[in-house]
Amino acid sequence: MSDADLLRRAADLALEFLDGLPDRRVGPTVSVQDLRAALGGALPERGEEPMRVLEHLARGADPGLVGMAGPRYFGFVIGGHLPATLAADWLVSTWDQNATLYITSPANAVAEEVASAWLLDLLGLPATASIGFVTGGQMANFTCLAAARHEVLRRAGWDVEADGLFGAPEIDVVLGADTHVTILVALQMLGLGRQRVKRVATDDEGRMRIESLREVLGECSGPLIVCAAAGNVNTGSFDRLEEVIAVAKSRGAWVHVDGAFGLWAAATPDLRHLTRGAGNADSWTVDAHKWLNVPYDCGLSIVANPAAHKASMNATAAYVPPSGDLRDPFDFTPEFSRRARGFTVWTALRSLGREGVAELVDRCCALARRMADHLRDQPGVEVLNEVVLNQVLVRFGDSDEHTREVIRRVQEDGTCWLSGSVWHGRAVMRISVSNWSTTEADVDLSAEAILRAART
Ligand SMILES: *Cc1c(COP(=O)(O)O)cnc(C)c1O
Repeated sequence: MSDADLLRRAADLALEFLDGLPDRRVGPTVSVQDLRAALGGALPERGEEPMRVLEHLARGADPGLVGMAGPRYFGFVIGGHLPATLAADWLVSTWDQNATLYITSPANAVAEEVASAWLLDLLGLPATASIGFVTGGQMANFTCLAAARHEVLRRAGWDVEADGLFGAPEIDVVLGADTHVTILVALQMLGLGRQRVKRVATDDEGRMRIESLREVLGECSGPLIVCAAAGNVNTGSFDRLEEVIAVAKSRGAWVHVDGAFGLWAAATPDLRHLTRGAGNADSWTVDAHKWLNVPYDCGLSIVANPAAHKASMNATAAYVPPSGDLRDPFDFTPEFSRRARGFTVWTALRSLGREGVAELVDRCCALARRMADHLRDQPGVEVLNEVVLNQVLVRFGDSDEHTREVIRRVQEDGTCWLSGSVWHGRAVMRISVSNWSTTEADVDLSAEAILRAART
């Protein structure tokens, strides 16, 4: 059996999976015990023939896979993979480039450089900003806030990378009450603490109240970091960025915008108004594996001040040669060795173009509105949020219990998959539309399944 046979078989297995994806039950069909039985057992003493291992993996994993790359997966905020980005990702694995330095992969370094310029143009961010190609929104938030921590302390005369936080001037961190959990995790990893933040009150949609922001800022006296949101993970709402950033900057803050999925709204003329003022911030988190529909994993940490970005991530070793003017990707990410993520982002942007990205985002939002229209006004069903983007929050009857039961039934039914959340103290069903392949028919079929579950 040749290597070529093995790779052709893998391609066939992948194509079989893709063929079945639109129609397969979206959730898994087996229990954890079944999966352990299929994939478990003792470590083999002797290696097995690769083709048998591949077949075993494909057979054993399949019933425990989730159809999240397919058209009726509406859980969390997931995205999918455009055929072009999946194909490019196969090449990325084949090339097996370590993206760390220019010299470890000149092609990747340049693909990242080119894709960075395209992204900044598309998202309306400063052309001189730097971008780190990280694993996802979590690491993008971490990286951006590390740059923030560097810069606000540098201005206060403190070198946090060299001297740490012991004895450093205290940083005030200000967040909206509905900030994404990954911001808190980033703060916990950065030694800034999850609990010692100051919280700004929010409105029904999760947007910071400006008067509350002013009040909270009035209590701050030290180096200051303010985190705003472009796309609340539940409602899809946007902080009033122009105002929030102006108010925060007037107090000397570093402003970070978590726009993991929401900042893609800047790429379409129809929704750009939601992001007005975003370009005035200091750093931005954007996910590529969500709405840009590249395969997992890829997030973007974008920093207006490349020197701060670099200083916070800087690593040098005797064996790392200086690159002069060339871009070393590891200057902008927490990782040292990593996958060459630039290629799939380059491919997505080149294959979609400016119009294609706008069309993808607009289409998902139109489908989210269509879903909300199907559900709204049905007896015992309430759409809780203004559907300004791609997120829909639904409540069934007036008990948390019933809403959770409807979610459970929809997951059980398998037509589509979505999950629950808690919004301002009440259990909700959360529907996110962020996959290129979702059609109106998928939304109609899924809405029927949801209403069926609500009636039973
Ligand atoms: C998804 C998400 C994150 C985290 O991104 P990952 O890619 O899952 O690490 C952060 N913020 C928001 C608003 C998100 O939607």
